[in-house]
Amino acid sequence: MTKVVLALLLSFLCNYIYAQNTEVELQYVEENDSIIFQVKSTAIIPIDVVSKQVDTLFSKVVYKELVTVQPYDSVRGFIRVHIDDFEKLKQARRERDIYTVEAHYGDRRNAKHDSTYVYTFPFKKGKKVEIQQTFFGKSSHKSIASRYAIDFGMRTGDKVYAAREGIVVFALDHFTEGGKRKELTRKANKIVILHADGTLGAYAHLMHKGTLVKKGDSVTKGQHIGYSGSTGYSGGPHLHFVVREPGDISVPIYFEGYEGLVLKRGKRYKRKH
Ligand SMILES: [Zn+2]
Repeated sequence: MTKVVLALLLSFLCNYIYAQNTEVELQYVEENDSIIFQVKSTAIIPIDVVSKQVDTLFSKVVYKELVTVQPYDSVRGFIRVHIDDFEKLKQARRERDIYTVEAHYGDRRNAKHDSTYVYTFPFKKGKKVEIQQTFFGKSSHKSIASRYAIDFGMRTGDKVYAAREGIVVFALDHFTEGGKRKELTRKANKIVILHADGTLGAYAHLMHKGTLVKKGDSVTKGQHIGYSGSTGYSGGPHLHFVVREPGDISVPIYFEGYEGLVLKRGKRYKRKH
């Protein structure tokens, strides 16, 4: 018999803006004389769990650096510690980083961005929208997860359209607040769509109750999926759009009518198709 000793681990899934923490749960399970770590997923696509031991002075706790959790499944045993050492480990972890555990949407072994795909602009056909931030944008597009993100100058309540067809893996719209405060980083409403090549498109900062799709829905290119806003860490209304390979690695994307061109900050672009 195994039993779940304690659910929840602080600082688990602290990374990036996907807010997967509502879909993945880390648990400690007692088994014979060991405590083993288990991840349970309620996501509809695989999730890669990456564990790294940072503190080499502590005896080995991370046994598998990469495990993939299948939809609605669990994986255990990637971190294992003797029951007598468990309290010591927890105590030490409060003081310093012993290991890190991150979860990312998608199975990195089965995904590669199709760089020939041409995206449609996520705003209304015929409309012109100004680019507020582009690839390697100086204010917030610097990390691996967002260096190829684009900020479209859309107002709160503007319609958001799918830039590419796919399946909705995540949709959240209960957050109400926005601003340039650190604690709002993970409080952006968003929609994440899985594409045929295994990449994921994220539409962020949507307005409160601003999603029209839900987990599991199929969407077509150009489908109206929600409403723009300014929730989460945001200096004002805009749509943050980014495409990532699993592992939260953003990739460059190009749009219809502007194939191969990097959009320029401050310039207005028209959706022609
Ligand atoms: Zn942005």
